[in-house]
Amino acid sequence: LKKINIEDMSKDEIYEMNATFNRMIDRLEENFEKQQHFVSDASHELKTPLSIIDSYTRLLKRWGTSKPDVMAEAIQAILSESERMKKITEQMLMLAKDESTGAMERETFDVIAMARTAVTSFSRSYERHITVQSREDSLLYHGDKEKLKQVIYILLDNALKYSDSDVTVRVMEGDTNIELSVDDHGPGIPKEEQPKIFDRFYRLDKARSRTTGGTGLGLSIAWAIIHAHQGTISIESEPPNGTSFIIDLPK
Ligand code: ADP
Repeated sequence: LKKINIEDMSKDEIYEMNATFNRMIDRLEENFEKQQHFVSDASHELKTPLSIIDSYTRLLKRWGTSKPDVMAEAIQAILSESERMKKITEQMLMLAKDESTGAMERETFDVIAMARTAVTSFSRSYERHITVQSREDSLLYHGDKEKLKQVIYILLDNALKYSDSDVTVRVMEGDTNIELSVDDHGPGIPKEEQPKIFDRFYRLDKARSRTTGGTGLGLSIAWAIIHAHQGTISIESEPPNGTSFIIDLPK
């Protein structure tokens, strides 16, 4: 680092340095605020399953084995709420790890083959048409294959959870980029909600999302992975005519 002697600096240089420091402080404050929000949202999200577990455990303690139907209900609720807590903590750790290390394992792979593998694993559990469309037979890209596959999983999982329609994954090659989209014909996402959809823990319909196992972290994970690849992820949706999530990856 070069040692700065303030006496040798011109007024303009001092002004510029001051502006840079101010920008740095603003960014630090902004990040700090975001972290604080994250911690408070996370605590809130974990509190709900925890209090359900707490009340069912008390119920079990009180009734013991004397009421088998209460026991069965309590065990089921405790199991599914602890599953939910596990999912939330795993996803939070994933986000925190990616942010602190930014670690990526890049390799050259075929995006179309990767999309087909993702689609095949979903086709086994859904009786719907899930297809991959592309003009190309194969498209090579250098990036973190496992993480990008995870993005496709998140988008496919959402399309299948929030719509009853068929789902299409499209892969296109541009001069300088690769475009991937996941399209459904479900209810869509209202315009005013679209800017918030990538925020952590944000869900349009908390109750519906909860019953489908949603945590509101999937799209923030997808956003972080795509941005780590210097790409963008955006939504095109005109309710009630479905949703497209579009990923743009520079080659
Ligand atoms: P979740 O775990 O709740 O699915 P996400 O971050 O993946 O969290 O998505 C955030 C919210 O965006 C969801 O709760 C849902 O309300 C909405 N959403 C995501 N994908 C779609 C889609 N394809 N169609 C309609 N709504 C969607």
